[in-house]
Amino acid sequence: MKKYSAFAIAREAFRQHKGWERAWRSPEPKKSYDVVIVGAGGHGLATAYHLGRDHGITNVAVIEKGWLGGGNTGRNTTIIRSNYLQDPSAAIYEKARSLYETLSQDLNYNVMFSPRGVIMLAQTHHEVRGYKRTAHANALQGVTTEWIEPARVKQLVPIINLDGPRYPVLGGLWQARGGTARHDAVAWGYARACSDMGMDIIQQCEVTGVLQENGKVSGVNTTKGDIKCSKLGIVVAGHSGQLAEMAGFRLPLESVPLQALVSEPIKPCMDVVVMANTVHGYMSQSDKGEMVIGGGTDSHNNFTQRGSFHHVEETVRALNETFPIISRLKMLRQWGGIVDVTGDRSPILSKTPLEGCFINCGWGTGGFKAIPGSGFGFAELMAKGYSPLTAEFGVDRFRDGRFIDESVAAGVAH
Ligand SMILES: Cc1cc2nc3c(=O)[nH]c(=O)nc-3n(C[C@H](O)[C@H](O)[C@H](O)COP(=O)(O)OP(=O)(O)OC[C@H]3O[C@@H](n4cnc5c(N)ncnc54)[C@H](O)[C@@H]3O)c2cc1C
Repeated sequence: MKKYSAFAIAREAFRQHKGWERAWRSPEPKKSYDVVIVGAGGHGLATAYHLGRDHGITNVAVIEKGWLGGGNTGRNTTIIRSNYLQDPSAAIYEKARSLYETLSQDLNYNVMFSPRGVIMLAQTHHEVRGYKRTAHANALQGVTTEWIEPARVKQLVPIINLDGPRYPVLGGLWQARGGTARHDAVAWGYARACSDMGMDIIQQCEVTGVLQENGKVSGVNTTKGDIKCSKLGIVVAGHSGQLAEMAGFRLPLESVPLQALVSEPIKPCMDVVVMANTVHGYMSQSDKGEMVIGGGTDSHNNFTQRGSFHHVEETVRALNETFPIISRLKMLRQWGGIVDVTGDRSPILSKTPLEGCFINCGWGTGGFKAIPGSGFGFAELMAKGYSPLTAEFGVDRFRDGRFIDESVAAGVAH
């Protein structure tokens, strides 16, 4: 595959852009592969990429029922941070954040990583205590964050109203190298790199069953026929429960839509990401100028990937007090994505009762930021049977009571 470069852009400008190759192939599935990954979201594609790059396993198919990146990966508000409380979480999220720093160069694809900084506002005394505790924990974990006072918050976010009558801003947890990236580009960049290594990305192909022989996985039924494999990775976010059922086991999680919306584009007014968890909304400004606003989850389990009016009203009303200027903005679009939420708000990266079958799920409302680290660790788990990065995230922890409680750091009340 030809490399993207400034020279290539100049060359193509003179050729009416007729020389670009397709970024990835769209082949028909082969009869068998060493590894099949179900789900071409960021986590599935990153897993395939690291299987090839780090472990030399390239006879891989990534099977996607829709279009690649069309699940949560293409629907999220793209916040990247690693300021989690527990050690295993800080390790995997910080690994991911540090991989994002060089992802564009590694993939030769501009993922537009923008480490503009993320503030989590403290608007109650409980949050002040919680975030100061997280800042101390992060210092011990080698994750760079700091507690900042209201004056510094105002300096970083001039449009903020510190003196809201109900929820004044009492400070914040600041991660200067947190930020955002272009979500589609993350999926596209991994897909291109996987295709370049000879892997097959098969879109519009739904997995409808899991094949097994003598307690070991042997392949999948799909809408394009059966495909054999000796290892299977299930990486389907909001549909993890269904795939687990096909493979014959149950998972301790539930699936709910998480909603988001964007405003009309306006001139640059906020160059950091702000999360206001008490009033419940978070906001950043996209390169196009839209305010990208994250809302909450639906209060009942369902599979609609749509937004609903009461969420727009509740989210915008909540943010108005802290950001009065948004009261004058028109909202352009809203949508939802199906997230799978575990009881301790931490993911599952694990072997399963079916030999050769591995599962990566439960990232809930916050898995975009984890994509590179999750792919790195899950590929190691699939290739070698063990990864230090994923060791604590086994599904057995729910049976053994070894929870990784991230209900505060997960950010969105769900
Ligand atoms: C509105 C919203 C805002 C969010 N904001 C953030 C944020 O700011 N920061 C952050 O870190 N995270 C955020 N998240 C969470 C993040 O988007 C997800 O955790 C992450 O994208 C999950 O990636 P994934 O690859 O596991 O899943 P997905 O991207 O959903 O990919 C799973 C794929 O599996 C496919 N699939 C399902 N069933 C089958 C089947 N039977 N056969 C074949 N394919 C199948 C689906 O079509 C889908 O493409 C947000 C999520 C939403 C919905």
